[in-house]
Amino acid sequence: MSNQHWLERSRASVWHPCTQMKRHETLPIIPVREASGIWLTDFEGNRYIDGVSSWWVNLFGHGEPRIKAAIRDQLDSLEHVILAGFTHAPVVELSERLGALTGLGHAFYGSDGASATEIALKMSFHYWKNLGKPEKNRYISLENSYHGETAGALSVTDVPLFSATYAPLLRNAIRVPSPDSRKAAQGENADDVALAAAAALENVLAKQSAHIAAIILEPLVQGAAGMAMYSPLYLETVRQLADRYDVHLIADEIAVGFGRTGTLFACEQAGIRPDFLCLSKGITGGFLPLSCVLTRDGIYDAFYDEDVTRGFLHSHSYTGNALACRAALAVLDIFRDDDILAANRERANQFTHYLEPVRQRRDIHHFRHTGMIWAFDVDTPHPGFGQAFFQAMLAQGCLVRPIGNTVYFMPPYCIDDAHMAQLAEATCKSLDALADDPGRIGAGLALP
Ligand SMILES: *Cc1c(COP(=O)(O)O)cnc(C)c1O
Repeated sequence: MSNQHWLERSRASVWHPCTQMKRHETLPIIPVREASGIWLTDFEGNRYIDGVSSWWVNLFGHGEPRIKAAIRDQLDSLEHVILAGFTHAPVVELSERLGALTGLGHAFYGSDGASATEIALKMSFHYWKNLGKPEKNRYISLENSYHGETAGALSVTDVPLFSATYAPLLRNAIRVPSPDSRKAAQGENADDVALAAAAALENVLAKQSAHIAAIILEPLVQGAAGMAMYSPLYLETVRQLADRYDVHLIADEIAVGFGRTGTLFACEQAGIRPDFLCLSKGITGGFLPLSCVLTRDGIYDAFYDEDVTRGFLHSHSYTGNALACRAALAVLDIFRDDDILAANRERANQFTHYLEPVRQRRDIHHFRHTGMIWAFDVDTPHPGFGQAFFQAMLAQGCLVRPIGNTVYFMPPYCIDDAHMAQLAEATCKSLDALADDPGRIGAGLALP
């Protein structure tokens, strides 16, 4: 069967995510027949480097044998069981290990990132309600934040392209400035921007903290904003402010957790512990949907009561799925056994080195890098740049999806020198080709 065969059937029956389907009249969908390591292969044998880790979920490459083996082994004993009133070994072991790694000893499970956001928002409000402070029912989120697409998550998301249409359905969060280090003026550094953003937050808290349950943020890197990176000093300061003004800190590490920023969790770089930690995406190495909200004793205890309604009566059918938890345990084993964080430091140095010719270019600015994420902004007046760049890269065997005019790389941790060289060379060639022939750039926006 050809690519054409599958893309036509897919167009007819699959409503693809984050997509204006009509654009697929001209833009092909790429049917993937198989994937291995960093490579995706289509039905005609073309291979693509997965430069975005399959929407930021894959950690160690596709088909990682130890994760596969763990899931297979689990399949032989228990695939899934209701988690209300029942439990099983993988969910207990995973909760214990995540608790030991984060200092947050109570784990509540969902299936997708957005459901983790919903869980954290609801838990925070419910905590204050249980304490007799139901008026603490508003949230603070950052300019350009992204926390998922369900209605609660969208109300703390500041990407108008995704949220504006649904504005009448949402109860918008209070927005505070992003500490995005690109805002630094001449003579300022990332810490200056962080402190200015924290001061703006303090202004809001000083006036409104009596009505605020929590501040939610993406630690160190605002992903969907276009990989906006910022100083850990911001997290450190927000932690102090949250304590001083008695509001929760929700750390959405759905994208940045599991080694993406160089440490297992991004909050570690600021030496802080959030009140709620949301995890998903990399948690199963990109194999199965699973999300988790971790919290501390003091919050858990506020729900522990004779009264049923003081309990957290939230659920998802697949909560704590045994296969997904086994995959997550295998992921933690791999971090330990292969010393992934140390190996990634080496990889990151290499890739930064390969990207030097990109960094040197006159037509890009704000080249930036945190852990296993790289990004830069392209000087282009064309709103269709992202789409054209995506296609130029694809023609060279690389899957890279710009966000607006920001090009970023978020490769699986199995990236080697040959892949790095190919990505870097293809990037320069694509930028050259589009600069020489801007007529190739059509209209339309690039979606993450
Ligand atoms: C992807 C993402 C989410 C939403 O996760 P889904 O699994 O897509 O629902 C939430 N927050 C951040 C920071 C993300 O990157």
